[in-house]
Amino acid sequence: MLQTTYRIRVARSTADGIATGNQEFEVGLEERMTVLDALFQIRRNHDASVSFRCACRVGMCGTCAMYINQVPRLACRTRVRLLNTRTITVTPLPNLPVLKDLVVSVEPFFDQWRRVLPALHPKDPDSTELARIPADSEYARQTRSKRDCITCGACYSACGIKNSSGEYLGPAAINKAFLRLVDPRDTSARDRLRVLNDERGGVWRCHTQFNCTAVCPKGITLTDTITKLKRAMLFPGQFDRS
Ligand code: SF4
Repeated sequence: MLQTTYRIRVARSTADGIATGNQEFEVGLEERMTVLDALFQIRRNHDASVSFRCACRVGMCGTCAMYINQVPRLACRTRVRLLNTRTITVTPLPNLPVLKDLVVSVEPFFDQWRRVLPALHPKDPDSTELARIPADSEYARQTRSKRDCITCGACYSACGIKNSSGEYLGPAAINKAFLRLVDPRDTSARDRLRVLNDERGGVWRCHTQFNCTAVCPKGITLTDTITKLKRAMLFPGQFDRS
């Protein structure tokens, strides 16, 4: 197959995450190949110490999210041809601590995720009944474009507010809370709303910049979620089922 030579610039760091600048590699790639393929070629043919994270390689696990030409993307879903440039710069996701090269710690992301109590709290926790959610139900309708989060952290890294406020929950955690709040089986609205209403970390911090929606690889309408929550929270008791 015909190959094109790409210049791949990779952000490097020491083993404790201290940045040492970008390193350039020339890599021959077929047009259908992805940034993740490029990184594997670099490890195989140039420098085996280049560190990055990946697992499924098909856009399902979210682990290969990184900054590619200044935009958070999944490396496994980013075809080099579609970047329209022969120079590709790959750096770690912003707003998360760097562990090594392109590998970040996702702990801060999941710390916020945990704050919204992501697990379902049903009325009857011992029930063995299967939940039936008809496709035309109100719950199915409200959550249609919001259910497929793969916890990749792309929205968290693109968020301008997260960038300046460590306490902000971030778009993915807020979206998760929304899914629980509108779930007719759930009974923990009060606890979640307390977190979402928090002056410094809750939904009111969002300035509706749309960065999160623009970068989400699953097409989740995050800004819409946050706006809907803000409106609903002006009318206390809306989600109360306890
Ligand atoms: Fe990734 Fe989208 Fe989930 Fe954010 S909402 S973590 S961008 S899949």
